[in-house]
Amino acid sequence: MRIGLAEKTVLVALGQAAMHSATLPAPPSQIQSPLEEAAKIMKQVYSVLPIYDKIVPALLSVGVWKLSEACNFSLGVPVGPMLAKPTKSVSEILDKFQGMEFTSEYKYDGERAQIHYMEDGSVEIYSRNAERNTGKYPDVVNCISRIMKPTVKSFVLDCEIVAYDRVKKKILPFQVLSTRARKGVILSDIKVAVCIYAFDILYINGQPLLQEQLKLRREHLYNSFEELPGEFQFATTITSNDLEEIQKFLDDAVSASCEGLIIKTLGKDATYEPSKRSNNWLKLKKDYMDSIGDSFDLVPIAAFHGRGKRTGVYGSFLLACYDEHNEEYQSICNIGTGFSEQQLEECSKNLRGKIILKPKPYYRYADSANPDVWFEPAEVWEVKAADLSISPVHRAANGIVDPNKGISLRFPRLLRVRDDKNPDQATTSDQVADMYRAQKINHTNHQEEEDDD
Ligand code: ATP
Repeated sequence: MRIGLAEKTVLVALGQAAMHSATLPAPPSQIQSPLEEAAKIMKQVYSVLPIYDKIVPALLSVGVWKLSEACNFSLGVPVGPMLAKPTKSVSEILDKFQGMEFTSEYKYDGERAQIHYMEDGSVEIYSRNAERNTGKYPDVVNCISRIMKPTVKSFVLDCEIVAYDRVKKKILPFQVLSTRARKGVILSDIKVAVCIYAFDILYINGQPLLQEQLKLRREHLYNSFEELPGEFQFATTITSNDLEEIQKFLDDAVSASCEGLIIKTLGKDATYEPSKRSNNWLKLKKDYMDSIGDSFDLVPIAAFHGRGKRTGVYGSFLLACYDEHNEEYQSICNIGTGFSEQQLEECSKNLRGKIILKPKPYYRYADSANPDVWFEPAEVWEVKAADLSISPVHRAANGIVDPNKGISLRFPRLLRVRDDKNPDQATTSDQVADMYRAQKINHTNHQEEEDDD
């Protein structure tokens, strides 16, 4: 892992090693592809208990087939957050959830937080990336004792922490939240107040709830906590399968400064799936409804020196998505827009510390790319684009949609730098291919020949 091996490779290798071991139990007879199944179990176990010091001894003692029983959810250890799939319209949601009970919630634009409350009264807050974020939010820690009902002894909440104006009683944009210091915040110094919007509960009073349906988890949530306006609230929700009602709810969400909706199955197929981009959670962002389904999280792997006004900083960057199967970064576009002057300076400064003499062997790009400098995979940038097209130059999803060509983004624009994702959590080639397929207007052969750079 020190040489930058992706986490998933380690998990797959552990699963396969256990499979080949002569001393550990052989696979049950009904399992058809034991190597794949073993890797799947390892990934699932790791998403619930991401600690090798616990997983490896358990693996050596019970083998892979009983590992899920031996490695359970533990209070105080962050679970990989469940993720949502992008959709483009309310009608697409109704199609996907046909005949199922589902619920819609406001999609708040802040920072994901998993709050663990231990029996000894201590609190830990974890980011989307399972990093400890407790030092950033002393105000959140402080409010916990005021929101719990007396019956509550321990819990794990899944929430979004959002910047909040307590005078105007209004949600503030993500950009305001991002001005808060990341560590060591002192309660009396806080200038940006936050509100916690709770949407799920994973554990209560010694009982893990991951395997329960959302309907029941919600009952626990509502029964165990008291809302504190402007400090702790339940995510706004409706349960309706009426197209017009959901459409109106989406408009209300946007008027309330939310990004859109998250729609979730409720009573069936509605367990909490750690780390999974599940079909049971769909996200619908107003911004992207008329263009492509979602933004992209991409890794800057190289840059070109700026000229004119941009002398001294980089003028543009080569971005890449991540291919999970081959563990490689594949170029997807050049980007030079969306940056404020200050942002460009900051990005240039940070990346200067990541320069490498030659591209990594696991970078895929065209020979003609010719950038001035190459970088380690270090940052993740959220990017919005007008559309996707087949490209003879870029290598994203090469071989998936077209046997010899990749996919590229047209008119990419930087939205924000994402501190909460590692490079190997960038948008994957499969996701790029899915978005390309979902794009309504398919490109004509003529356009396919174009080099969109
Ligand atoms: P992803 O997590 O799917 O890679 P992302 O991090 O770019 O994507 P979004 O696409 O904005 O995030 O959507 C998912 C995020 O929305 C969640 O990780 C969570 O932080 C946030 N969120 C806000 N409101 C809710 C809600 N009601 N239910 C679930 N997640 C919510």
